[in-house]
Amino acid sequence: MSAPHNKSLTEIAWDDLASEICGHCGRKKQKRQSFCRRCYFALPEGLRRQLYTPFSGGYAEIYDEAKTYLQCETDIPRAVRA
Ligand SMILES: [Zn+2]
Repeated sequence: MSAPHNKSLTEIAWDDLASEICGHCGRKKQKRQSFCRRCYFALPEGLRRQLYTPFSGGYAEIYDEAKTYLQCETDIPRAVRA
C-alpha cells in the first residue's frame, strides 16, 4: 500500500478535475475542467485537444504532461501546494 501523500497520477488527475482550484496555478476553475482558463489557453492546441481524452484513454498522463508544459514553457507561476 502506498502512503496517502503518494498519490498516483490517476488519483491526482481525478482530484484536480473534481476540484475548483487549478492544479497548476491555484486559481479558481470550473469543476470538470482540467485547468483555469489562463492555464488552459497557455497550452498548445494539440495538448488542449488531448485533455478531452477519457481516463480510460490515458487522460492522467496527458494531464501530467500538460502540467509539466505549464511549469516549463510558460510564465504562469505554479501554486505552492500543501
Ligand atoms: Zn491555472
